[in-house]
Amino acid sequence: MKPFQYTRLSTQDLASGTTLRDSTILAGGTNLIDLMKYGVEKPDRLADIGKLPYAQIEESDEGLLLGALVTNADTAYHSAVKKTYPLLHKAILSAASAQLRNRATNGGNLLQRTRCYYFYDTAMPCNKREPGSGCAAINGFNRIHAILGTSASCIATHPSDMCVALAALEAEVHVLRKGATLVIPFDQLHRLPGDHPEKDHNLEPGDLITHIQLPTEGFSDHFEYLKIRDRESYAFALISVAACLKVSEGKIEDIRVALGGVAHKPWKLKKVEKEMIGKVASTDNFQFFAERLIQGAQSFGTNDFKILLVKRAIVRALNSALNPS
Ligand SMILES: Cc1cc2nc3c(=O)[nH]c(=O)nc-3n(C[C@H](O)[C@H](O)[C@H](O)COP(=O)(O)OP(=O)(O)OC[C@H]3O[C@@H](n4cnc5c(N)ncnc54)[C@H](O)[C@@H]3O)c2cc1C
Ligand code: SF4
Repeated sequence: MKPFQYTRLSTQDLASGTTLRDSTILAGGTNLIDLMKYGVEKPDRLADIGKLPYAQIEESDEGLLLGALVTNADTAYHSAVKKTYPLLHKAILSAASAQLRNRATNGGNLLQRTRCYYFYDTAMPCNKREPGSGCAAINGFNRIHAILGTSASCIATHPSDMCVALAALEAEVHVLRKGATLVIPFDQLHRLPGDHPEKDHNLEPGDLITHIQLPTEGFSDHFEYLKIRDRESYAFALISVAACLKVSEGKIEDIRVALGGVAHKPWKLKKVEKEMIGKVASTDNFQFFAERLIQGAQSFGTNDFKILLVKRAIVRALNSALNPS
């Protein structure tokens, strides 16, 4: 591992205008330290944010404010999350292992990097790791790769489960930028690869995620998080679906569906959701919705199976949300 400078940040450091611009932020370290060991990330300076005051969960009239430094485990087991946002509870607990969830933070979960094998293998070309070097996955082994929103430069997926639930719930992300707080709608946090796959998100160097704001509506009556993976535990999603419904007299009042494992960001289309309002909540209509949501999907060989699988997963998740067991 390349030598680096380590600083533990205090609240006073931030108040005195210490800039994080030239540092890489370290939270739980469960992704960043692995990447440093592999030689994928080579920071000169690490800024450990572990002692900053963002380790609380606060309830208010606007919903629930999750501190960026609250661990994934403490978030999942918080009473308000279990009661009002069971979708998020289920999504977080489907991820990683108990030990990892005890260490991983909410902010780090949002900005964890792709699990593309070639990104981690420094002997292989990868535009995300080394812009301009090529993409080994497009004509390689791409079982875990994207089918939506891909580009000729990159077909990686975002690996988080938590983010898929947060996208469905339409959370917001609070970011400290140059001393001011910026509120970013969840669907604008991550980006599609385009010509710049080295950029996973729309944050700027030095930006610090401080909180995640959950809206008041948690869809606790009709929700499902369905994760399909090669092993039943301790595996990233091949496909995941976060589904939320509101139904009145058999008709759809509100519907939110976000997909994981299919794109460079959680995949959600508001326009397609709006088309469903007022329609009967039926398997036929869920199938129609699934077709619309993944319109234009393109596979790359080893991941051909994902196109049929994701359609079936969407319908299954919506039916489970409609008829909770
Ligand atoms: C074996 C294994 C299996 C896993 N399985 C799953 C799984 O099934 N599903 C899943 O969703 N995840 C899974 N994970 C990923 C795990 O959830 C992430 O590693 C973890 O959430 C990252 O959080 P962290 O606090 O450790 O982040 P770190 O590793 O400290 O940081 C990750 C990135 O976020 C940046 N960062 C961290 N906090 C902030 C902040 N507040 N503001 C700005 N930037 C920040 C860092 O600079 C870094 O780039 C797995 C991980 C491992 C090692
Ligand atoms: S899919 Fe993206 S991350 Fe994977 S090798 Fe290609 S450029 Fe790199």
